[in-house]
Amino acid sequence: MNGPTRREVIRGFTAVSTAAAQSATYDIAVIGAGVFGSWTAHHLRRAGKRVILVDSFGAASSRASSGGESRVIRCAYAGDEIYSRFAQKSLGQWKDLGRRVNNALFQQAGVLHMSRNNEKYITVTSAVLSKLGIPHEKLNQAELMKRFPQIFLGDVDQAIYEPESGALMARRSVQTLVQEMVQSGLELVLEPVIPPSAKGRMDSIKTAGGRTISAGAFVFACGPWLPKVFPVELGQRIFPTRQEMFFFGVPAGDRRFAMPAMPVWIGPDNLYGVPDLENRGFKIADDDHGPPIDPDSADRLVPKESLATMRKRLGVRFPALKDAPLLESRVCQYENSSNGDFLLDKHPSTGNVWLAGGGSGHGFKHGPAVGEYMAGRILGTQTPEPRFSFASKSTVQKRAVH
Ligand SMILES: Cc1cc2nc3c(=O)[nH]c(=O)nc-3n(C[C@H](O)[C@H](O)[C@H](O)COP(=O)(O)OP(=O)(O)OC[C@H]3O[C@@H](n4cnc5c(N)ncnc54)[C@H](O)[C@@H]3O)c2cc1C
Repeated sequence: MNGPTRREVIRGFTAVSTAAAQSATYDIAVIGAGVFGSWTAHHLRRAGKRVILVDSFGAASSRASSGGESRVIRCAYAGDEIYSRFAQKSLGQWKDLGRRVNNALFQQAGVLHMSRNNEKYITVTSAVLSKLGIPHEKLNQAELMKRFPQIFLGDVDQAIYEPESGALMARRSVQTLVQEMVQSGLELVLEPVIPPSAKGRMDSIKTAGGRTISAGAFVFACGPWLPKVFPVELGQRIFPTRQEMFFFGVPAGDRRFAMPAMPVWIGPDNLYGVPDLENRGFKIADDDHGPPIDPDSADRLVPKESLATMRKRLGVRFPALKDAPLLESRVCQYENSSNGDFLLDKHPSTGNVWLAGGGSGHGFKHGPAVGEYMAGRILGTQTPEPRFSFASKSTVQKRAVH
């Protein structure tokens, strides 16, 4: 039978589960249609591989880490050149995707990294950005006050400004990529995959709906679900944490908190935010790790105490927003590795199972480079990076990448 047996409409595009999908053997099955899995599928398909993508809920769903409204894309990573390179490469691919589908997935708001009494951070960051040819400016306090009078600087004395970075419309970007692949023939199945027993070579996986999917290799890009899928290997190596974010309403007619006046900003106190994009409100969040979370059962309401604390912090940094109304709040999860480095490696005890995760609160922007790296590893054309290895992932959390 050639035609589709079952169609599911996902946010404006059609996922087709064909009879072929139930019986065929694929080169690679990718489990997880978040940003890591979707870009991995993209790069494998570009290399001519026959790929099937499977997700419990659909691409960048509200439960997934990739399901947020927006995500920061910056190239500055202090001395961590590896992530600056990944971000630089990814930004190009995000822009290409936006151009291909004629959709503003990337918003060039600029990114302002504010620092306090930290000359070393400014020097090291600037050196890496200069080495990679990434445009940036060093701003002192007087220059900051002049350029961004809506920000109360307090003891912020310097900043790095990246004019060509900004924010990605996160959910829309991943769903657009998956839609593009579906339109060019990708098999997308919307069912949970039953956690496999990963010993020896894996020939197939089973879905909760009773489907068997055979493939030559399997990539598990299951974000915060990875500890549930591989409890023995990852139960103590990926730490999902509860993260809250807030969208506040800006005063009517006041353009100081939207582009081009307001950049994406990162403060010295772990607060960060995104300007009012597409009139959704001024986004603010704390990058500190929250308590452990279960992505399936978590209550996603923000408690009043958190809101009160955030409102206070908002009012200090942006005095004109001290009484701003809350428009929306979200609870999402980071899927932290022990130190913040990604996990992009072969499963330790099978020859054809791969793991892609550990985005650790900064992974979204890197989706294209992660997908390219994973495809290269699977196809044998990419040199392994020790920092992304399973072996480097400890069971003790000690954050080192920001
Ligand atoms: C609040 C917040 C703010 C963030 N801010 C930024 C930022 O500004 N910049 C940045 O670069 N990064 C940011 N991040 C990090 C980034 O969003 C994540 O690192 C990234 O989205 C992780 O993507 P992923 O594909 O690994 O996981 P996910 O997006 O969670 O995708 C995993 C997918 O696997 C599927 N799945 C799981 N188990 C199964 C199964 N058994 N069968 C089938 N499917 C399954 C799920 O349904 C899901 O769709 C932020 C994260 C959060 C939570």
